[in-house]
Amino acid sequence: MAEPLGDLARTHYCGELREDHVGKRVTLMGWAATRRDLGGVIFLDVRDREGICQVVARPEVSADAHAAADRVRSEYVLAVVGEVASRSADTVNPGLDTGKVEVLAREIRVLAEAKTPVFPIEDEIDTHEEVRLKHRYLDLRRPRMQRNLRLRHQATMEVRRYLDEQGFYEIETPMLGKSTPEGARDYLVPSRVHHGSFYALPQSPQLFKQLLMISGVDKYFQIARCFRDEDLRADRQPEFTQVDVEMSFPQMETIFGLVEPLFQRMLAVIGVKVERPFPRLRYADALLRYGSDKPDLRLDMPITDVSDELAVLGLANYPGLLDAGARARAIVLPASGGVSGMRLRKINEEVWLDRIVPDARGEKRNLLTLKATDEQVTKLAEKGASAGVARKLLDKVGASKDDTVLVGVDQEGPVAMAMGVLRLEMGRELKLIDERAFRFLWVTDFPLFEWDRELGRHVSLHHPFTAPVDEDLPLLESDPGKVRAKAYDVVLNGYEVGGGSIRIHDSALQAKVFKLLALSDEEARDRFGFFLEALQYGTPPHGGIALGVDRTVMIMAGETSLRQVIAFPKTASGADLMTGSPSSVREDQLGDLGLLSIRK
Ligand code: ASP
Repeated sequence: MAEPLGDLARTHYCGELREDHVGKRVTLMGWAATRRDLGGVIFLDVRDREGICQVVARPEVSADAHAAADRVRSEYVLAVVGEVASRSADTVNPGLDTGKVEVLAREIRVLAEAKTPVFPIEDEIDTHEEVRLKHRYLDLRRPRMQRNLRLRHQATMEVRRYLDEQGFYEIETPMLGKSTPEGARDYLVPSRVHHGSFYALPQSPQLFKQLLMISGVDKYFQIARCFRDEDLRADRQPEFTQVDVEMSFPQMETIFGLVEPLFQRMLAVIGVKVERPFPRLRYADALLRYGSDKPDLRLDMPITDVSDELAVLGLANYPGLLDAGARARAIVLPASGGVSGMRLRKINEEVWLDRIVPDARGEKRNLLTLKATDEQVTKLAEKGASAGVARKLLDKVGASKDDTVLVGVDQEGPVAMAMGVLRLEMGRELKLIDERAFRFLWVTDFPLFEWDRELGRHVSLHHPFTAPVDEDLPLLESDPGKVRAKAYDVVLNGYEVGGGSIRIHDSALQAKVFKLLALSDEEARDRFGFFLEALQYGTPPHGGIALGVDRTVMIMAGETSLRQVIAFPKTASGADLMTGSPSSVREDQLGDLGLLSIRK
């Protein structure tokens, strides 16, 4: 039977007790993590948010407390009153922060009983994630999850403090709004009052933050929830949080100078010192050197273009290999660490490249493998290749003796991507990634548009409010694909943790960009008319960025799933297993919303 809390008040958290508390009388509140009855003496591990502490119930200290301890079971909620005592040297637990002390119980109250938990509340569990999510409140009691929630709180508090110091106002923008063009599908909310009309949940506060600049707010931020109805991956959730920032009159440098210290402050929360300035890489170079627009710089394994060398290598097996604009790209696997011949054959099967490279025996393979040895060069020469070109190639890719060079051949896009994936896979496999490092970089010089083959038209690489680089303005008419954007992404350890741009602040230019995106005048007016109009009332040049809170905290916490740092996340199919959402609704609710006809 549970007992009332009465007038008991907590004096300390379980996890905070140390040797200097010895002799003090304390009142703890927490959950019974374990109970051990050593014949007469009962040991309870009591857990709260801050940690675990050992409570000892001896009948000679308090018969009542001992009797209460006797009926305690896993996850009962307890109040414990007692004295802190030193543990004898042989019973010290170095694995616990509180391991040098224990509490001698004078009184134990069971404040709530508990059903047997569905899984043990401890860090090392192999419980299926679905079960954890269904009973998320139990899952969150685990120390690791408590640590993640605390870290997230500390990181966002640091963001708030920093942006406040920099003069930014925190302003909320609507959840029920109009579709924002971030390129994903909208979550729609039917209107009860206006049947057939819908609100869209914000994919981002983009237009509102720009409107706040027109409103004279000058510096805005928001820890904003965004909603995008996309197919989910490990680093995506249908609703996610970003630090949304906008300011008036910035250069790109102003934004870089604002954001770099912000990340420094966030990372300082886990004791990591981040160097400034962050390195910068142009988008095209990122694709070329790392096969990715979000390169993981913890791995020093650049990709080298060896198309010229391969074209003149003179190997009989590769005639016409580089015709029709194909490119050859190479990475180097160090001799130390070693990749077995078998693994190399397997890689050949795994890597998907269109351009199949036949090997000496005429067998199909997707990659050309070169060992950086004199013997290999001689062998190539015997097959008619130029030894000089082979040496030049090995030299260009930076191969040392006995390293293995992997060369992929395909059209520009596919070969860049395949080599980018292979680079990361090999880096992981050969343990070349410095797991303790935090490597930031800026990716810049994005094209404003990319060509969408399916749609047969240009689409924005970021969003349609991104400003073109000034000197590229004339190209908008003649060669839109060549126009560069004043856009930037910030990348951490291979994750895009932020992106933004300087915006278009001229309504005529904005209308022109809409046109290039094949938005008819009518469509533009219908979707963004209010915004085009607002732009005409004296709009300051402005720009900003949005930083992914979930991803950044995930990386800081050393986790690989966003679900580890979101209190109540969704599964890959967008379901909340605990509450059972999404779920059906009552017929009368559909009626109210004018949606009954969909129930057929
Ligand atoms: N609205 C953009 C996004 O959510 C960020 C920005 O341009 O500031 O990705």
